[in-house]
Amino acid sequence: MTFPSPVAYQQLMGNISEILFSAEQIQARVLELGAAISRDYEGCHPLLVGVLKGVFPFLADLARAITIPIEVDFMAIASYSAESRRNGVVRIQKDLDSAIGGRHVLFVEDVVDTGLTLNYLLRNLRSREPATLHVCAMFDKGSRRLIRTPIHYKGFDLPDRFVVGYGLDYRELYRNLPFVGLLKADAFSPGESEKKGSSK
Ligand code: 5GP
Repeated sequence: MTFPSPVAYQQLMGNISEILFSAEQIQARVLELGAAISRDYEGCHPLLVGVLKGVFPFLADLARAITIPIEVDFMAIASYSAESRRNGVVRIQKDLDSAIGGRHVLFVEDVVDTGLTLNYLLRNLRSREPATLHVCAMFDKGSRRLIRTPIHYKGFDLPDRFVVGYGLDYRELYRNLPFVGLLKADAFSPGESEKKGSSK
C-alpha cells in the first residue's frame, strides 16, 4: 500500500479544480533549495525562522534538505483588523524563543503576495541586529507585489490566483495536501470567491 492512500484524499481532492505544482515537483525544488542553502551557509550555523501556520510543511521539508547544522524557530502573527492587514501591520502572537542578534537568520515564507507582511516582519527582525537576514520563499506572486521585497531563495513563481495545499489553507482546510492547486468555485463558502485570503 502506498502512503497516504489515494482514497484518503478523495474528500479534499473533490474540491480541487487544477494542480499547479505536484508533490514531486515541490519535493525536487525543495532539495535544490536545500542544497543551495547548505552551500551558501557552510560554517554559519544559520537560524531558520518560519511564520505559522502556512510554512510548516515547507520548513519541515527544507530543514531536512539542508545538510549543515541549523536551528529552527517560529513566530505566529495575527491581523489587528482588515485595515491593518491592508497596511501589512500584524500583531506578533508568538515571538521567537531565541535572540537573533549577531546570528545568520534565514526567514522562510510559504508565499509572498503583496509583500506587506514580509516587509513588516523583516523590519521587525532587522531591528534585532542579526548578522545577516535573508528570505527563502516557496512561492512568489510577483505580479501582486505592492512593496519591493528581496527574495534570495525562491521555489516557484505563482500566477495571481488563490491557491491551497502544501501548508496553504482555505478556512483552515487543505494545508495537508502535498501539492498546490486551485479550488473549484463551488468549494468557496457562499458569498466568497478566490479573492478571499487565507488564515495564515
Ligand atoms: P502578503 O502580505 O505578502 O500579501 O501576504 C502573504 C500571506 O498571505 C501568506 O503568508 C499567506 O498566508 C497569504 N496568502 C497569499 N496568497 C495566498 C494564496 O494564494 N493562498 C493562501 N492560502 N494564502 C495566501
